[in-house]
Amino acid sequence: MHEFFSNIKLIAFDLDGTLYVGEKIIPGAVELVSYLRGRYQVVFFTNNSSKTASQIHDKLNGLGIECTLEEVYASSSATAVYLREFGIDNLYVVGSPGLNCEIKSNGLNILDADSAENLVVGLDPDFSYKKLANALNVLLKDGKYIVCNEDGSFPSGEKKYLPGCGAIVSAISAAANKKPDFMVGKPNTYMLAKISEKYDVDNSEIIVVGDSYKSDILMALNFSCKAVLVSDYCNDSPINDDRILVVENLQEFIHFMRG
Ligand SMILES: [Mg+2]
Repeated sequence: MHEFFSNIKLIAFDLDGTLYVGEKIIPGAVELVSYLRGRYQVVFFTNNSSKTASQIHDKLNGLGIECTLEEVYASSSATAVYLREFGIDNLYVVGSPGLNCEIKSNGLNILDADSAENLVVGLDPDFSYKKLANALNVLLKDGKYIVCNEDGSFPSGEKKYLPGCGAIVSAISAAANKKPDFMVGKPNTYMLAKISEKYDVDNSEIIVVGDSYKSDILMALNFSCKAVLVSDYCNDSPINDDRILVVENLQEFIHFMRG
């Protein structure tokens, strides 16, 4: 066991670009996760705001990565939990059916733009000028403006990308001349805080594994934990910090773990 992993109790994996890309599992992912299980608590997190945690759980199991629903943290479900925790209700939602579903299952009310008091924004493949206008008019009422994440894009296949939730947030922010009050996803630490609370582990006992410096690795550093950057799908600029271990791919990670 490499000393980088001494005192570690929990390993938190990013998904897109780390364990899978689009619908394809990344080579070594199943082997790595099953190697780590039994040695560490393993959890999974994603800034994906278009799917429910349950859909992501099904996807992981379908790809051969066995996990329970409780081990999956998505920015959709985390946003719904955040809204409930801070009593932010009567919402206009720009987002997918998945986000709407998570919000409703937390007992919150989704309203039309005329009646809503607060705005929630997630990835919405059906985003339109009409929704932009609605979001603007909700923000003019000076309620809360909560967003799932501010990712500009996300990987959708071999060296291909799609516009992310952040692209939609930017359009709304530009229209309203207002910045979000809170972003639930990475690099913010809300999901990691929930994970550390649930599994009763200290920041120093967590390692975050991801493919993005400005998202996964920054979240880890913001939470004072260590991180492993898997560089194969990484397309942002490096951060130098001795709490970061860089591996090229998951096979190299397994190799490193086995010493
Ligand atoms: Mg990623």
